[in-house]
Amino acid sequence: MKLTITKADRLKAKPDDANLSFGTSFTDYMFNMDYNPQNGWHNPRIEPYASIDMDPATMVLHYGQGVFEGLKAYRTETGGIQLFRPGDNFKRMNNSSRLLCIPEIDENFALQALKELLNIEKDWVPSAPGTSLYIRPTIIATDPFLGVRASHTYRFFIILSPVGAYYPEGFNPVKIWVTRHHVRAVRGGVGEAKTPGNYAASLYAGEQAHKQGYTQVLWLDGIEQEYIEEVGAMNIFFVIDGKLITPILNGSILPGITRDSVIALAKMWNIPVSERKIGISEVMDANGSGKLDEIFGSGTAAVISPVGEIKYGDQVITVGGGEVGPMANRFYQELTDIQYGRTKDPAGWIESI
Ligand SMILES: *Cc1c(COP(=O)(O)O)cnc(C)c1O
Repeated sequence: MKLTITKADRLKAKPDDANLSFGTSFTDYMFNMDYNPQNGWHNPRIEPYASIDMDPATMVLHYGQGVFEGLKAYRTETGGIQLFRPGDNFKRMNNSSRLLCIPEIDENFALQALKELLNIEKDWVPSAPGTSLYIRPTIIATDPFLGVRASHTYRFFIILSPVGAYYPEGFNPVKIWVTRHHVRAVRGGVGEAKTPGNYAASLYAGEQAHKQGYTQVLWLDGIEQEYIEEVGAMNIFFVIDGKLITPILNGSILPGITRDSVIALAKMWNIPVSERKIGISEVMDANGSGKLDEIFGSGTAAVISPVGEIKYGDQVITVGGGEVGPMANRFYQELTDIQYGRTKDPAGWIESI
């Protein structure tokens, strides 16, 4: 397939590196590709960033048939640009697509197209500490049709957005609320797919958390409301009695690439790590017996997010004295050092542009 490139007439003014927020400004170009049953995925093109003109009956607007990904391009100290495990994002996108009845893309071609786009947009990769260029690959169902079925046509696009440091005031613990009333995903559902409906389904509980002064929701399993799944848009880790534990992937948890990287680093460092079912009562009991050392989330946006407090029913517990724990700190430092090229890549995770 031949990638065509259309130049923009004029370029946007770039935002100041020091004042970037998240997801508000977008670069000059985007990647687009279409699917129909006759031609498969076709017409790959890089063109000026533009609105998508849609029929109001477009299927994704009504039934949410879509998938997306999230990754970042990092500026190294020597001015280079690098990606962290990007092939895994396109692989996961195809896994999500299978669950949503969306035709799969050629993962290698998508990665090449992304690299091409980043080459054109390299000046948009910010260099202030902690900043990066956020990358959002997305596929949407585009048939203008009101019946419920899988669409016959799709659009795949990639947009880029320069983003600020996640921790502008330093690496700080967050407070999370464990809901017993809402569920994010259930066994047999689409919890392991990055698909819009999962996020729509999480908003109501998120607002309940915010009203009580908590930043994120910790989700329990949808059947027994006991086993821990994940937190907000992050996977979760517990350090109990020196051992690292994370919920095993069960189909309703999003298989995070950061999660996988934490597990891999723990193994390299000989830290005992297990992927298994872990109940909220086990966590509360561990706290009661003084064995709950740390809790932290993992995800592309924050990398590692230490948890300082959790609320479950009317019990409120402080974790690790409300401070950042040594494990959270070690994983955060190592992962960010790898991503920004400050340390050697231990596992073939980095791809340079
Ligand atoms: C994206 C995401 C994660 C984290 O995945 P990473 O690949 O580590 O960024 C975790 N949970 C949910 C629900 C997500 O959407």
